[in-house]
Amino acid sequence: GGFESLGLCLEVYRGVKRKGYRVPTPIQRKTMPLILSGADVVAMARTGSGKTAAFLVPMLQKLRQHVPQAGVRALILSPTRDLAMQTLKFTKELGRFTGEGERVVLLLCIGTSASVFVETSVIFRRDLRTSLLVGGDSMENQFEELAQNPDIIIATPGRLMHHLSEVEGMSLRTVEYVVFDEADSLFGMGFAEQLHKILLQLSETRQTLLFSATMPSLLAEFAKAGLRDPELVRL
Ligand code: AMP
Repeated sequence: GGFESLGLCLEVYRGVKRKGYRVPTPIQRKTMPLILSGADVVAMARTGSGKTAAFLVPMLQKLRQHVPQAGVRALILSPTRDLAMQTLKFTKELGRFTGEGERVVLLLCIGTSASVFVETSVIFRRDLRTSLLVGGDSMENQFEELAQNPDIIIATPGRLMHHLSEVEGMSLRTVEYVVFDEADSLFGMGFAEQLHKILLQLSETRQTLLFSATMPSLLAEFAKAGLRDPELVRL
């Protein structure tokens, strides 16, 4: 089977095709339907397995459009600045392919004369806003991005915690979808304490996904604390 059997909506399915993907990778075939059903998932998957699309594609389907004032709706935690930047690039690309960047223009008919049409400015932008919070970039630029009310934050744990302590009123309570990407690296790099603090700031009703190549015992404990009856996917 191809992507058509995984439960994607038509727009997202088309986006995946436009990206050039024909057949889902094994990890995508197993995780996408689970993620779309709302389950928490622990997926044992390494780089090169197609794991990034495995969590980004269902995320785009779940978010689909920018909702003003909704707050941050998705949070992706990456161990390194490089991985975070790659994930951002991928998110924007897939977003474009799924039509999130479409301009929707409303034609208003004024009065009774059918000849009087006013094209309003764009009234509704569907594009998802994504903010990258990683070390090495200026805090000021990132403050500005946060002020734009992003839907998605892609971050390294240290820089995210830095923002949470500096920005008054910044909250992760509205986050619906959390991904711990390359979780074994997150732990291997000493982020355990920050990750536990981040968990405390999230709402209980979120969906949590954890992708990791290996499952050391510290990470298994973290998964137990942070995920709710997770489905375990291995290849
Ligand atoms: P990742 O494991 O997320 O680092 O992805 C590894 C590479 O596989 C990336 O270049 C992706 O663009 C590519 N890829 C992911 N899913 C598919 C797919 N279903 N078909 C073809 N290429 C894919």
